[in-house]
Amino acid sequence: MRCPLAWVLLASLGWGCLTPFMPPLVAAEASAARTGIRAAEAGRHVQALSDDAFEGREGGSRGGRAAGAYIVETLRGLGIDPAGDEGTYFQRFGTMRNIMAIVPGSDPDLARELVVVGAHYDHVGYGTPSNSYGPTGLIHNGADDNASGVAGLLEIAEVLHGLPTRPRRPILLAFWDGEEKGLLGSWHFLRVRPTGIAPLRPVFSLNIDMIGRLRGDRVEVYGARSAIGLRPMLVAANRSSDLELAFDWEIVDDSDHYPFITAGVPTLMLHTGLHDEYHRPSDDAHLVNLIGVEAVGRLAFDVVTLVADTPGGLPEFRAACRGEKGANRDVLERAVPPDEVGSGPRPRWGMSTRVDPGDPTAPVVVRVVPGSPLAVAGLEIGDRIIGIDGEAVVDQGMMIHRLASTENAVTLSIDRRGRTRTLDVQRVAPPDR
Ligand SMILES: [Zn+2]
Repeated sequence: MRCPLAWVLLASLGWGCLTPFMPPLVAAEASAARTGIRAAEAGRHVQALSDDAFEGREGGSRGGRAAGAYIVETLRGLGIDPAGDEGTYFQRFGTMRNIMAIVPGSDPDLARELVVVGAHYDHVGYGTPSNSYGPTGLIHNGADDNASGVAGLLEIAEVLHGLPTRPRRPILLAFWDGEEKGLLGSWHFLRVRPTGIAPLRPVFSLNIDMIGRLRGDRVEVYGARSAIGLRPMLVAANRSSDLELAFDWEIVDDSDHYPFITAGVPTLMLHTGLHDEYHRPSDDAHLVNLIGVEAVGRLAFDVVTLVADTPGGLPEFRAACRGEKGANRDVLERAVPPDEVGSGPRPRWGMSTRVDPGDPTAPVVVRVVPGSPLAVAGLEIGDRIIGIDGEAVVDQGMMIHRLASTENAVTLSIDRRGRTRTLDVQRVAPPDR
């Protein structure tokens, strides 16, 4: 079920007005702790989970159950609290089992606001014509799909558990089963909460699915438009990682972010893209980019701790995200063609921007006047203006006002494909005409 796209300016800026930074104590500890997420340890988990012994980890199968036991033993060894049914790590449904563990929060007032970080641990077993690109009948080890995400999540679990100061909200670590059979585990969780955490309500979720093929520094991000203020949070969290974020606007039922978005929970998914081994027996451990698992794992950790530790209200769900497509994005970010510029005065600093209803705090650059101060400083079409002289931009009106009242020099902070960059801009005297 999809909502029609509404290109209206939202009156409330919601969460975007909050300063998207962690308070110093947790932030400092978390930024030191993140380096505990390591490629070598992730590699051991990828190797173990994608071993032939687990027979492709099909939900409900012998190998799937054995893989679940490996995850539970790892969590138990780390000393992380179980959050499944009756004091166990398991949430059973049919012949399958989600695996759940929890890191309690530190703020009693936010104890019911659950931050969920999940990765599915099942795969397609020996494959069938409906879930494999073949050849079927051989073990599909699913090293990227999704031993990579599970390895990243186990590393995140270890580091979260070891934080000297816990973030304010509780964090649920969810290892979904039955994803490959139709997102069964995450759908079940949203219908039925495990007994131990029944009173808790998910306020945000992060889905980690296939993070074993980082190419360059490019990570695909889904769901950033599921709440106003979510993209600025993600961009702030990405400052340590400085990865290129490829924002995909489309929300489809291809992974465990979808049930959460359907349920109205602001949700992100991180993914490093499809490849020739996708859903084939050749998706093996030696092809996983473990440095990439480490990098994306650290980004996921930063996102989760930032959201979990944000004081006050989190961003409200934005239903319009469900109907948005790449074509809507093209319209929004389209450069203003020269014949539409008209003969009006040159913009003072040399740019025009457009308001994004999914992220109104960061005007989108759609025109850069050649030779202008901003062109000289390196501004590009598609950049988003997020700060002026160290102050966060709250909307396009504020940005225009501030630029109009600034004389000769300004420092702009921009979000360029998810990376924060700073431009020092000098205004030069207009040439004689
Ligand atoms: Zn898959």
